[in-house]
Amino acid sequence: MAVPFRRVSKMKKRMRRSHLALSVPGMITCPNCGELTLAHRVCGNCGFYKGKQVVAPKAESSEE
Ligand SMILES: [Zn+2]
Repeated sequence: MAVPFRRVSKMKKRMRRSHLALSVPGMITCPNCGELTLAHRVCGNCGFYKGKQVVAPKAESSEE
């Protein structure tokens, strides 16, 4: 139910909004190139996943 904002105290408003923060996605440093990348994903910089080359790296694919 809607409540006029002046009827909600600063404390009550802040207590409610304490749960609204966004979480940071799981980031790791790539073991191959050291670039910061998403966990459980192919590295966007070197194309490595689980110690193997899975996709062509960014710099080489643009040259071909
Ligand atoms: Zn990498």
